[in-house]
Amino acid sequence: MSGSTNQRIDPRRLWDELMRMAEIGATPKGGVRRLALSDVDRAGRERFRLLCEAAGLSVRVDAMGNMFARRAGRDPARLPVLFGSHLDSQPSGGKFDGALGVLAGLEVMRTLNDLGIETEAPLELVNWTDEEGSRFGHSLMGSGVWAGVYPLEKTYALSDTEGVSVGAALEEIGYRGPVPAEAFPADAYFELHIEQGPILEAEEKAIGIVTGAQAQIWYDAVLTGRESHAGTTPPSRRRDALTGAARIILLVERLMRGEGEDGRGTVGQIQVYPNSRNVIPGEVRFAVEFRHPDEAAIGRLGEAFSREAAALAASDGLAFALTELFRIPAQPFDAACVDLVRKGAAKLGLPAREIVSGAGHDAVYVAQRVPTAMIFTPCKDGLSHNEAESMRPEEAEAGCQVLFEAVLARANRAHLAS
Ligand SMILES: [Zn+2]
Repeated sequence: MSGSTNQRIDPRRLWDELMRMAEIGATPKGGVRRLALSDVDRAGRERFRLLCEAAGLSVRVDAMGNMFARRAGRDPARLPVLFGSHLDSQPSGGKFDGALGVLAGLEVMRTLNDLGIETEAPLELVNWTDEEGSRFGHSLMGSGVWAGVYPLEKTYALSDTEGVSVGAALEEIGYRGPVPAEAFPADAYFELHIEQGPILEAEEKAIGIVTGAQAQIWYDAVLTGRESHAGTTPPSRRRDALTGAARIILLVERLMRGEGEDGRGTVGQIQVYPNSRNVIPGEVRFAVEFRHPDEAAIGRLGEAFSREAAALAASDGLAFALTELFRIPAQPFDAACVDLVRKGAAKLGLPAREIVSGAGHDAVYVAQRVPTAMIFTPCKDGLSHNEAESMRPEEAEAGCQVLFEAVLARANRAHLAS
């Protein structure tokens, strides 16, 4: 890395920590399986806690198991600057999804210690509980409760496929902490994360300056026709739910492509009944989702989809039921925090571009309560939620150094009366 600073994070130490954390729950294919609130998650948390305490941080745990490791600032009146990510993983996840943001945060703390820097504001490194949602079926759980999006008691009652509830699992691993799981006043939140997409790598950018997260709309669709004999039913008598679904799936694609490179539209799940090779399908159930960085566009996509899909179904003589599961509004990040990321990358001479997050992140919920920004790094082939997820040490270093710059600048900013 070129660029003007002599305050350098230690890239070797960061990489070694990433590799050591990846041993906890390591899978044979080189990934990790560190499911939220499992024994493996506990082992990751314990390691993280010990490293934080060794770095002089005081660790507290809230009632959702979210961990906050605090480094005091010079001015006790100042609100803390938060940064972090998550240590849980998908069932066959990668080494860097989440762990990069947490361990880069630790490296920021260690570097400040090494350089003898006392920041004005206190700093808090966060490990959010259950970002992935793969065990209890609910992603962004810890940050969602913290931000007040999900109620605590309802979340405690969610259970995994074995019938173990979130509340019981927290008790079991000893991480149902004494601090209330609710937002507290904070000055800012920064999250470093791999992009989990192909754009930065393709454009050879070291840093994604994340300006916000996409709006999303999710549906369940059911098409009902009539089951009948594949050999004896002539075309005029058929009410084939699957050919009707095919037309609607292509509608999803057409609407997506109508938005240029910004639109996302996916049917990733489909069930055909009775699913027999010589029966005309009588019912098809499928999942539909659209995403877009622009709030107005997601409304436009949702409206066009429900109207045109209903018309297609009607012309095929099929009944069509569409249930909107939820809508997540677009979440723009805080302009001043985003600007600190931009300035950090510029100061270090790193090639960077603005980008909208295609995935959900804890930062999206935190942003509802605290001024927030994210930093993306490339990952190999844009691959994530996969054991082959990979990145180069210098990519991790660049992301961590930008995190360092942004956190330091925010924590030492001229105090604003507000
Ligand atoms: Zn993640």
